[in-house]
Amino acid sequence: MNNHSPQNVLITGGAGFIGCNLIRHFLQNCSDIERIINLDALTYAGSLNNLENIAENYPERYTFIHGNICDAELLQRLFTNYNIDTVVHLAAESHVDRSIDGPRDFLDTNIIGTYELLQAARAAWKERTDVRFHHVSTDEVYGSLGETGLFSEESRYDPSSPYSSSKAASDHLVRAWHRTYGLPATISNCSNNYGAYQFPEKLIPLIIQKALNAEPLPVYGKGENIRDWLYVIDHCRAIETIIRRGNPGRTYNVGGNNEWKNIDLVELICDIVQELRPPAEIKHYRELITFVSDRPGHDLRYAIDSTRIRNELGWEPSLEFADGLRQTIEWYLANSAWSITIINEKYSGQRLGK
Ligand code: NAD
Repeated sequence: MNNHSPQNVLITGGAGFIGCNLIRHFLQNCSDIERIINLDALTYAGSLNNLENIAENYPERYTFIHGNICDAELLQRLFTNYNIDTVVHLAAESHVDRSIDGPRDFLDTNIIGTYELLQAARAAWKERTDVRFHHVSTDEVYGSLGETGLFSEESRYDPSSPYSSSKAASDHLVRAWHRTYGLPATISNCSNNYGAYQFPEKLIPLIIQKALNAEPLPVYGKGENIRDWLYVIDHCRAIETIIRRGNPGRTYNVGGNNEWKNIDLVELICDIVQELRPPAEIKHYRELITFVSDRPGHDLRYAIDSTRIRNELGWEPSLEFADGLRQTIEWYLANSAWSITIINEKYSGQRLGK
C-alpha cells in the first residue's frame, strides 16, 4: 500500500454532482488538505448553487477558478501558482443521452481535456513521485453484462455510447501517461452514483421531480436494464482512499453490490415519495409510470466486482441503499428550490438521445 498526503488539490469539474460532494467531503473530513482549487467551466451541468456557502465558510482553503480543462496555459498557471500536488479529475460531459444527440463536446472535454491535464501535470511535476493524478471514470467503459457476471479491473473495454467510448479513451490516455512518462496516476471505474445535487436529467432526480409535478415518469424500454447504485459520499470516500493509499498505475473498480432493475427502482422511488409527500390528484405515484422507446445502444446490465479496493485498500460502502435513497429523496424534497432553478434555467425534463 502506498502513502500519499494530499495538500494542494486541483479538482476539475467540482461544480458538478460528484465534484461538489467531494469538495464538501474533503473540506469537512480531511484537515491535512490545505487548499482545494476547483476548476470548472460551468457548463449546463455545473453550477455554483451546488457549492453554496463553501467559498464563504472556507476562504483560506477553497478557491474557485472558472475555466476550461482544454486551456493549456491556464492549467500551467494553476499548477505553478498553487503548487498542486494532487489532481482529482472529474470534469467531463457525463450524460449518455446527450452524447447520442451531440458527441463532439464529449470528445473535446473527455479526451482532449484529459490530454491537456495530463500534459500540464507532467510538465509541472517532472520526475516527482510525491504527487498523484487520480482519474475518475465509469464502469460503462466495459460495455454491457448479460444476466450474470461482474466487471473486474481485467474486463475487456467494450464501450457502447459516445459518452462511454470517450471515457474509455481518457482511461487509456491516463494509463499510457503512467507507463510511458511515469506519471503517478490512478484510475477508478465506478458504478452509477446517487445522492444530493444530481442534475435532474439523471434517473433518480428526474423521477422524483416528475412525480412531484404529477408528470408521466418515463422508463426506457421495459425497464429491464440493471444498474449497480452507489451513494455519492461512498464514492467520495473511495476516491479519498485511492489518493491516499492507491498504487500508481493501478485501476480500482468501485461499486455498491447493489443491483436494481430500472422499473423496480422507479417503483421504490414512487413508494418513498408517496409516503413522504402523498399526491393530491392521483392515488399513487406508480400510476404515472410510462414506458417509452428505449435508448439506442442501451447496455442491459452493469455490476461491479469491487474486491480489489475492498481487499487492498480497506474501502467499503458505509450506507445501506434503503437509507441512502430515502435520505436522497428527503434532500430533494427539502431543496426543491435548487431543482426548480435548474428546471427553469437549464432543463425542463424533455426526452434526450432518442
Ligand atoms: P456532472 O455532469 O454533474 O459534472 C461535470 C462537471 O464538469 C460540471 O460541473 C461541468 O461544468 C464540468 N465541466 C464539463 N466540461 C468541462 C471542461 N471542459 N472544463 C472544465 N469543467 C468542465 O458529472 P458527475 O456526475 O459529477 O461526474 C463526474 C465524473 O465522474 C465524470 O468524469 C463522470 O464520467 C464520472 N462518473 C460519474 C458517475 C455518475 O454516476 N454520476 C459514475 C461514474 C463515474
